[in-house]
Amino acid sequence: MARAIVIGAGFVGLSTAWHLQEHGLEVTVVDRTGVAAGSSWGNAGWLTPGKAIPLADPSLWAYGPKALLDPDAALHVPFRFDVGLWSFLARFASHGTNRAWDRTMAALTPIDKLALAAFDELTDGGVDSWTREGPFVIGFQEESQAKGFLHEIAGVVRHGQEVPFERLDDPWKLAPQLAEGVAVAYRLDGQRFLEPAPFAYALGDAVEARGAHMRFGKAVASVSSVGTPMVTLEDGEVLTADHVVVATGAWLPALARPHGVRVRVQAGRGYSFTVASEHPPERPVYFPFQRIACTPYRVVSASRAPWSSARPTRPRDPGASRRS
Ligand SMILES: Cc1cc2nc3c(=O)[nH]c(=O)nc-3n(C[C@H](O)[C@H](O)[C@H](O)COP(=O)(O)OP(=O)(O)OC[C@H]3O[C@@H](n4cnc5c(N)ncnc54)[C@H](O)[C@@H]3O)c2cc1C
Repeated sequence: MARAIVIGAGFVGLSTAWHLQEHGLEVTVVDRTGVAAGSSWGNAGWLTPGKAIPLADPSLWAYGPKALLDPDAALHVPFRFDVGLWSFLARFASHGTNRAWDRTMAALTPIDKLALAAFDELTDGGVDSWTREGPFVIGFQEESQAKGFLHEIAGVVRHGQEVPFERLDDPWKLAPQLAEGVAVAYRLDGQRFLEPAPFAYALGDAVEARGAHMRFGKAVASVSSVGTPMVTLEDGEVLTADHVVVATGAWLPALARPHGVRVRVQAGRGYSFTVASEHPPERPVYFPFQRIACTPYRVVSASRAPWSSARPTRPRDPGASRRS
């Protein structure tokens, strides 16, 4: 039986491991911490192919410079002298054209069309978690703020996705938590959401139940592809396999660059936090202008971190926040 080592136990590593098992490979998953220790833990859980679009678009020229200089901006990248970072930003900016947007969207669309079914494949195949349909509620304080959102949806539809959406006269019916200041609102259908941490844990459990060796608390120092693929852990242990998958998210370059992967992976900034509420929203709410996404989170097992020796049974402190 062919053997594979998957480095990184986030959504990408675990789903790759699951599919390798489908193809009959014996899998070892290595993570320096454990399941969902990176951004797979604290993301918004949105499965929104209709919103999976290129980040660089012509509006970048309007908000990009401000975001760079404003430490409070949603897309702020810390200002520092780093030639690699500045050349990345320059290349990123050079893609802020309609032509580049269309080229990238054309490449994304076939993947977007597969995305939701890929989650069904996991849950139908035994991953004990769920995804839920929207509708998503999208809110704006002013008519003019909705322009960018409508333009993006039009682009996604032009590229062949079905993205049902309609303007709402009374968005409070769907999301009573909305403030009165929401002057313009839409409902977006055909998208889904999940609770990221519980889903990732369920995926990890499924991979382990199908026979994977889970090696947590093991940081990988290097990967060698000369002869038999070899993974060297920071504690000196050496693992070998027929295939090695590097799925270390924002940390990808450290292990992939020596193998010729020159594309820079640049972490931006994103925060997520969970708050308890007596009246939690029933469905996701999005404020595109402020770049704020709200997702219902029932804290079923939010604190079930497999690498934590305490294994708390109570939900994570509702005030707790996490930076990814
Ligand atoms: C605030 C926020 C909100 C988001 N919202 C959404 C959303 O709604 N929908 C969506 O689709 N996406 C969202 N994303 C993006 C999404 O979270 C990421 O694309 C996804 O989690 C990436 O998964 P990954 O497995 O590649 O990386 P990660 O989840 O970061 O996993 C990488 C893993 O690699 C391990 N690792 C790193 N280096 C090493 C090493 N040397 N040795 C061993 N292990 C190592 C880490 O411990 C980690 O567990 C959001 C991201 C953020 C930050």
